[in-house]
Amino acid sequence: MAIRIIREIGDEILTKKSKEVKEITPRLKELIEDMKETMYDEGGVGIAAPQVGVLKRIVVIDIADEEEEPDLHVFINPVITERSEEEENMKEACLSVPGKCGPVLRPKHVKVEALNEDMEPFEMEADGILARALCHETDHLEGILYTDRLNGPLEDMADEEEEELQRQERQGKKRGKIRKK
Ligand SMILES: [Zn+2]
Repeated sequence: MAIRIIREIGDEILTKKSKEVKEITPRLKELIEDMKETMYDEGGVGIAAPQVGVLKRIVVIDIADEEEEPDLHVFINPVITERSEEEENMKEACLSVPGKCGPVLRPKHVKVEALNEDMEPFEMEADGILARALCHETDHLEGILYTDRLNGPLEDMADEEEEELQRQERQGKKRGKIRKK
């Protein structure tokens, strides 16, 4: 397994449509393992193959928090077959748009059909964050970024993250003082 380089906004590959997976090959299995590892390494809740430069219809999602048990799903050739009329406007971020976030209107509930890693079909219903992640990641397979769908301003990543960095810096300084003693 290996961590792959994330393609970022401005890279043409992110605007292209991905191709259906016809059969699972050792190479694609390796890709899927690498996508999982890259997603966890980057702290993302989802990743689509074009984000690592491969135009195949493969999506990996795990919306569980770090302290929770993993809840990993692989979707091959996913198709959203139902979208609730009820929508929700919530901030999204994307590994391919570093340091930014912005609100997108998405259905609260979706139904998805896909194949699993053994190319067996399955159907799943999803609400809330999982529904949002499925919409976000399947958009990637169409060459669409959430920044194409913004329903409000694109902002710099939440201040909490900056505060966390500053806190770590302060702690770093403290440790430095201790060492001086
Ligand atoms: Zn994304």
